[in-house]
Amino acid sequence: MSNLSMLINGLKVTAEKGATFERRNPLDGTVATRAPAASPQDAVMAVEAAAEAFRTWSETGPSERRTLLLKAADALEAKTPAFIEAVSAETGATAMWAGFNVFLAAGMIREAAALTTQVAGEVIPSDIPGSLAMGVRQPAGVVLGIAPWNAPIILGVRAIATPLACGNTVILKGSENCPRTHQLIVEAFQDAGFPPGVLNYITNAPADAGAVVEAMVSHPAVRRVNFTGSTRVGRLIAMTCAKYLKPAVLELGGKAPMVVLDDADLDEAVNGAAFGCFANSGQICMSTERLIVDQKIADEFVRKFADKAKNLPLGDPRKPDPVVLGSVIGMSTVEHCNALIDDAVAKGAKLVCGGKAENTLMPATLLDHVTPAMRIYHEETFGPVKAIVRVNGVQEAVACANDNEYGLSAAVFGRDIARAYNVARKIDSGICHVNGPTVHDEAQMPFGGVKGSGLGRFGGKAGIHEFTELRWITLQTQPRQYPF
Ligand code: NAD
Repeated sequence: MSNLSMLINGLKVTAEKGATFERRNPLDGTVATRAPAASPQDAVMAVEAAAEAFRTWSETGPSERRTLLLKAADALEAKTPAFIEAVSAETGATAMWAGFNVFLAAGMIREAAALTTQVAGEVIPSDIPGSLAMGVRQPAGVVLGIAPWNAPIILGVRAIATPLACGNTVILKGSENCPRTHQLIVEAFQDAGFPPGVLNYITNAPADAGAVVEAMVSHPAVRRVNFTGSTRVGRLIAMTCAKYLKPAVLELGGKAPMVVLDDADLDEAVNGAAFGCFANSGQICMSTERLIVDQKIADEFVRKFADKAKNLPLGDPRKPDPVVLGSVIGMSTVEHCNALIDDAVAKGAKLVCGGKAENTLMPATLLDHVTPAMRIYHEETFGPVKAIVRVNGVQEAVACANDNEYGLSAAVFGRDIARAYNVARKIDSGICHVNGPTVHDEAQMPFGGVKGSGLGRFGGKAGIHEFTELRWITLQTQPRQYPF
């Protein structure tokens, strides 16, 4: 078991009055981590440390920021074994998932390092004689980043890397479900030599999340908030940000559709579907949640997909044998998915493979003939339980893909690329891949959703826009003409 501390102004600290909370392993209930339970006052101290550090960090040159970020990427990779242990202990996820998280997260830090010299502005033609008018991007101030547990290293790093690259100082609020995993990220940045106060880390007990977040959002020094998590909590955070007029990037839930057109290469589609549906047991915001399959090829697709799904290895990720499906995050996911299976089967869906689970080791499960009357047609499962909806033709496929409150990722499989591309263009989502899986992220890409999946974009230059202030600055180079 790990005993954690928080990081405020470069110092490892406990919470006020030594308060702590526990995170237990989802499979056997043993205590995985004991972490400080920050009070709102502790959170304010972190903001004040970040505000003080902003004065020098915002003036630190881009090459120095880049050097530190590149060192942090190396330090993160050096901690891969510790990450694998922490991820499986705290979230039940597999070594493969933890390793992939470190790989992509290190790439995100390196991409952020490359962005330090891309925080550029422009000269804008002015109608005032002798006026040099500029649009200048400047660091915004203190940024609050709030990350979830499901892709813990990728999303923890995403919450802090571009904000730091742009010259902001940051507070990372770790997830209650993986405080150790998120702390390892902060340790990597410390190992790299980031100055005190530039990156701060706080952890809180689940019941205190609302008060701790509001204490920080309300502080005048906090100028940007980014949150990755559920749409329910995203709305609460958006309301808090609205109250204090703080801009927020919100990366929320998803119900990604994968459309399989009648001319799709079915083997390719099955491989894309298996990866999109079952990577990290379906606990990814981009997970394929709805397979929208043309009736003409549906029987063959479902047969091939079920053959693959049934054979995906499932087991305790802490044992030596590698598995694709480890433990899900907790019994609430099991109960939620079991209820969705019961509801769908009672309303006429056919269970093709898998089924209800009794513990957090959930099998790959497919339900065919899903209709809009069933809860699973609309609701995010966030587990390895997937809906197959049969449609007739392209128009029905597009209508079905858009018949949902979410709009994060999507995919279309078809050999006629022009037709598949036109389907992709009609889907309401931030991201869509033709002949590729719904689960796909790269550090330099504009990542984000529409509708209930959120606001704003991480990744590449889009991230610079979110985490800088665009100012209009003029230089009058000759006497100005005034009307009086
Ligand atoms: P969650 O929304 O339950 O919790 C995430 C965070 O919200 C935690 O840090 C928690 O402390 C905080 N929180 C809880 N109540 C709060 C309150 N009242 N006020 C302020 N903060 C509060 O999300 P989760 O269950 O950890 O993550 C799963 C969800 O995240 C899924 O819906 C998934 O689709 C989504 N997600 C989205 C993306 C994306 O990039 N769009 C990526 C990963 C996960």
